[in-house]
Amino acid sequence: MQLTGKVAFVTGAASGLGKQIAHLYSQEGAKVVIADLNQGAADATASEIKAAGGSALGVAVDVTDEAQVEAAVDRTVKEFGGVDILVSNAGIQIVHPIEEFSFAEWRKMLAIHLDAAFLTTRACMKHMIAAKRGGSLIYMGSVHSKEASVLKAPYVTAKHGLLGLARTMAKEGAKYNIRANVICPGFVRTPLVDKQIPEQAAALGISEADVIKNVMLKDTVDGEFTTVDDVARVALLFAAFPTNALTGQSLNVSHGWSMT
Ligand code: NAD
Repeated sequence: MQLTGKVAFVTGAASGLGKQIAHLYSQEGAKVVIADLNQGAADATASEIKAAGGSALGVAVDVTDEAQVEAAVDRTVKEFGGVDILVSNAGIQIVHPIEEFSFAEWRKMLAIHLDAAFLTTRACMKHMIAAKRGGSLIYMGSVHSKEASVLKAPYVTAKHGLLGLARTMAKEGAKYNIRANVICPGFVRTPLVDKQIPEQAAALGISEADVIKNVMLKDTVDGEFTTVDDVARVALLFAAFPTNALTGQSLNVSHGWSMT
């Protein structure tokens, strides 16, 4: 049990990577807030965790909305007595060549990936600093924090931006023992990826099998997808690490797609 007594606020935790992280954190002893746009799915995930003997709370929140984020973090502190771990994970994908992106889509992508990281960080940092018990800020980056792919201009831009935020938070958080790190997964079969396989096939004029083999997994060492469990293990490492020795870092979990 590596997270006994800790409270984790995990965004986008009603599905995919965030959901697995929430389950693993609970198994390791943390109280977990499932913060997600999808209230029904957030409540369902919280119920699964409680049925397994853990403590969890589903909270409906749009992570791009300042007031909703503040209220959700305040509620976390009220119900669970503090917040020790932030996993800023909620995200979406929209794929187009740049000339077909509307400004509204560009803004939406940057809002979900970057505005939300700022809003959740600020809301959690305030409580972490006041409580004087340190903390861990974890951002869900991507191999696209380090590499670029066609059709993904706003996603790649936003995911690169998270590295800058995490490094700045590592410096600002150090005196409070608050660490900040980025997880950089390769492709994982979640609803986010399943949706883009046919979209990329249509945009690139190739089959869905070719998207998987020759686009998504082309540069891995073994042609394998990363799994939600692989990513949750890295999220546990960052959450449980005891000192500032591991801060301002980004860790690829991608079957060798990126080695930088
Ligand atoms: P997913 O679609 O399975 O889950 C995303 C969750 O985020 C959903 O539950 C959704 O309701 C929630 N969400 C979306 N917009 C929201 C908003 N405005 N406010 C609150 N919640 C919102 O996706 P996933 O694959 O688990 O992705 C999670 C994160 O991991 C994203 O940031 C994504 O960019 C990143 N990522 C995914 C992969 C992959 O291959 N799946 C790879 C690298 C990085």
